[in-house]
Amino acid sequence: MTAMTQTTESSGTATLLDRNRRFAGDFAAADLPVLPKLRTVMLTCADARVDPAHVMGLELGDAVVIRNTGGRVTPEVVQEVAALAFLVGQMEGSTPGRFELVLMQHTQCGAERFADPQLQGALKAKLGVDVSHVAITDHEQSLREDIQRLRDAPELPGHIIVSGLLYDVRDGTVREVIAPAPLAD
Ligand SMILES: [Zn+2]
Repeated sequence: MTAMTQTTESSGTATLLDRNRRFAGDFAAADLPVLPKLRTVMLTCADARVDPAHVMGLELGDAVVIRNTGGRVTPEVVQEVAALAFLVGQMEGSTPGRFELVLMQHTQCGAERFADPQLQGALKAKLGVDVSHVAITDHEQSLREDIQRLRDAPELPGHIIVSGLLYDVRDGTVREVIAPAPLAD
């Protein structure tokens, strides 16, 4: 990058800090409780078009949001949710309250490209990265697979209520693919 472009283009960091100054200027959220108001954890894709604060109107303090490639359930996600559920249990004592986990995938997801065996092979060979477990070919099937991964995780308490949603990046709508139900019946 030349000195010229540096002076004419604002960096991502500078833009974000500038926006934060405006945000902090009328900040009024200092007393929010630690536990999310909607008692909900959302898992969704890291894609820039899929921010639940916008898509689902999440306000500060509403929900815990976990984002990764595709919004898929990985061993890391299972560990994070288990740790969160444990923490909530510690805070609430013997009768834990409602704990919802919302899985939200989206159309035109980059994880659909990971279904290409050639790309999978190239990533494995060049970077040693295995993306087969996050590849998406069919959203409904992937959501069902992810819920099964959660059910198969013994560290997750059965009272967690899980649902599966699909966000359409072309028209902004979210469709309920799998209705909310507890992990264990
Ligand atoms: Zn995506």
